[in-house]
Amino acid sequence: MDFNCIAPTIVFQEVPNEISLCFSITGCKIGCKGCHSTELWNENYGMSLSKENYLHWLKKYKGLISCVVFFGGEWQANALIEKLLLAKNLGLKTCLYSGEKHIDINISQHLDFLKTGAWHAELGGLESPTTNQIFRDMKTGEKLNHLFIKDSINYNSLQGADNVAA
Ligand code: SF4
Repeated sequence: MDFNCIAPTIVFQEVPNEISLCFSITGCKIGCKGCHSTELWNENYGMSLSKENYLHWLKKYKGLISCVVFFGGEWQANALIEKLLLAKNLGLKTCLYSGEKHIDINISQHLDFLKTGAWHAELGGLESPTTNQIFRDMKTGEKLNHLFIKDSINYNSLQGADNVAA
């Protein structure tokens, strides 16, 4: 059985150092309070991500992307595993963003990157030092949350540099 998704988009920040094609899968049952994407809760929303549709998207962006990222879909393991294997066969890396704490090994063995943890507004997302969420390199096991924390820019010093140049 296939799952539905909304039209995929190219994303640059969800997987550090990769250009990813992002598929948001509908039918999420986690129900995070403050979810920014409640349209994803309805499994009938969006279009069917059949094998044919999926390959169409991957071919369309061939040579432009290095990774495929799924927002959800772990609730239909077979459909997700099929898509991960197709991406791997085309030489693409794979990533899953899940609100769950743990992902079945049958899925995770096909992932290069995995984000786990539900959304809690008071803890913040991956860029927050207090977050409950974890972004991991699945090949090395390394936690990569630090790559999401943006360097703080000291605008005063930039202004000072401007003045010197003038
Ligand atoms: S896992 Fe994501 S889509 Fe699902 S409820 Fe939580 S924030 Fe919303």
